[in-house]
Amino acid sequence: MAILIPRTDPRFDTLRQARNGRWPVNPADGVGSVALCLNSQDAAEVLQQVIGAGQRPTIRSGGHCYEDFYANNPSGMLMDTSLMDRVAVSPSDGSYRVAAGATLGKTYQELYKLHNVTLPGGTCGSVGAGGHITGGGYGAVSRLFGTAADWVTGVDILTVDGSGKVNLRTCTAKQDADLLRACRGGGGGNFGVIVDYVFDELPRAPQEVIMWEMIFPWAEMTEKKFTKILDTYGNYFATRGHDPETWGLMCFFIVNHKASGYLRLSVQFCSPDGMCRDTKVLDEFLAPFQELNPAVNSLAAQSVTRAAEHSAPHGMLRTPWAETGAAGGAYLGSTRAKYKSTCMKNNFTAHEVGVFYKHLTRMMPGVDLTRSMVEVDSYGGAMSRKEMLEETVAYQRSSVMRLQFQTYWTDAAEDEGHNNWIREFYQELYSSPEVDAAHQGTPFPGANYQGCYINYPDADMLDHAYWPQLYYGPNYEFLQQVKKKYDPNNVFHHSMSIRT
Ligand SMILES: Cc1cc2nc3c(=O)[nH]c(=O)nc-3n(C[C@H](O)[C@H](O)[C@H](O)COP(=O)(O)OP(=O)(O)OC[C@H]3O[C@@H](n4cnc5c(N)ncnc54)[C@H](O)[C@@H]3O)c2cc1C
Repeated sequence: MAILIPRTDPRFDTLRQARNGRWPVNPADGVGSVALCLNSQDAAEVLQQVIGAGQRPTIRSGGHCYEDFYANNPSGMLMDTSLMDRVAVSPSDGSYRVAAGATLGKTYQELYKLHNVTLPGGTCGSVGAGGHITGGGYGAVSRLFGTAADWVTGVDILTVDGSGKVNLRTCTAKQDADLLRACRGGGGGNFGVIVDYVFDELPRAPQEVIMWEMIFPWAEMTEKKFTKILDTYGNYFATRGHDPETWGLMCFFIVNHKASGYLRLSVQFCSPDGMCRDTKVLDEFLAPFQELNPAVNSLAAQSVTRAAEHSAPHGMLRTPWAETGAAGGAYLGSTRAKYKSTCMKNNFTAHEVGVFYKHLTRMMPGVDLTRSMVEVDSYGGAMSRKEMLEETVAYQRSSVMRLQFQTYWTDAAEDEGHNNWIREFYQELYSSPEVDAAHQGTPFPGANYQGCYINYPDADMLDHAYWPQLYYGPNYEFLQQVKKKYDPNNVFHHSMSIRT
């Protein structure tokens, strides 16, 4: 039986709260009640009751959503799947099953310790499988193995038919294959409540990886040096990074605002065989940066991490700076955050680097930008496999870098300042001749960009009638058809869900 948390329950205020402190904007916008589901039967019963009562269900697994998708639901019910967190292997066919509520941390640990395989998903251990995998999901070994959604071969999902009846569907390549494809990159909260992800196979975990971290202090920065650093990084992934020999190299470059004091480039490397015997690729990547005289973080640098000695062979050793001291708290609630994203097909242009420099050195009176940044992740490699275009709805298969604009603060009085900083930065970045006249202010898919990433949703994009093309490119019509077929009454909706 699901645990129902009505308004009167002392846990309500904590459990209704979103991880991002911006939501709900007002208590009146928040959810009316919360149901903690313990298994798929619970979830089906709760969902049937919610539909019967004419309420709106929203869904939470890890709770890491960047926008208000689950947290704003006046009088509705928040279905929380975080206690449905089993990671298992089917005794009949050996397939792996990851329940929606499993965190990435638990998933990696269990898959590794029990089966010596891994899921090439995101780097934050407290992110939930439920929203993450259906949105795509990439991380430290994704250039080597592809995205998490690329490996999904089945999804168990609760849908609601035209008469309001809840059905548990087992989607495979042979049954409801269109819904399976839509769940591989379409993003959460669109079609139903995902219960389990199924993977016929998963890649073998690397045996060892090298972590390397370089710091570039702002105190020693000039615009010329900044340009050189970004150009060196972008050029590598736009050229050399296409070679499969380099796919074991993954980078997370935190290009922090000047107020934070430094830029931080984190590198993880192993050869395609999952070992670190030959470091030619890593050495070659690092050499031009070393000429730029970075400080090397002695804790991370040159540490060969042996999987046998560590429970998490990749990624887990890295904690995003913005999360320091906060990881593991699913319901942080006090940190407010705003994000934007871009999928880049080429190296940075001179215009882009100039705009980066301008906004990352911009000071705004009364706005603390010490936790404001652009994270420039390497992309491409196995994530660019063209055969995945038909199997998934993630169309961004020619990107070489993925940008994530982030700004964090705690005081609601600073909302406007932070929103202005990130919006003006993004607007100016895509107001150039590289963007055609009809799509100024956005990285519209074309020669230079492949739009935005649905796991990093940005409700500002709703200002543009073409926003679905930014996230779904040519697959939006397909997603609309799937939506009409499996959720004809639009039971599952949020501010950026698939429209019919
Ligand atoms: C600290 C942090 C680090 C991150 N790192 C990465 C990264 O390395 N790589 C990456 O690709 N992304 C990363 N992300 C983004 C992350 O992938 C998305 O926020 C993702 O949607 C989170 O999934 P969740 O289950 O934790 O969130 P939730 O907020 O629970 O869900 C997100 C969306 O999916 C829906 N949803 C949740 N559960 C279900 C379900 N069972 N069935 C159907 N719909 C559901 C929700 O309603 C919501 O619309 C990060 C986010 C944060 C906050």
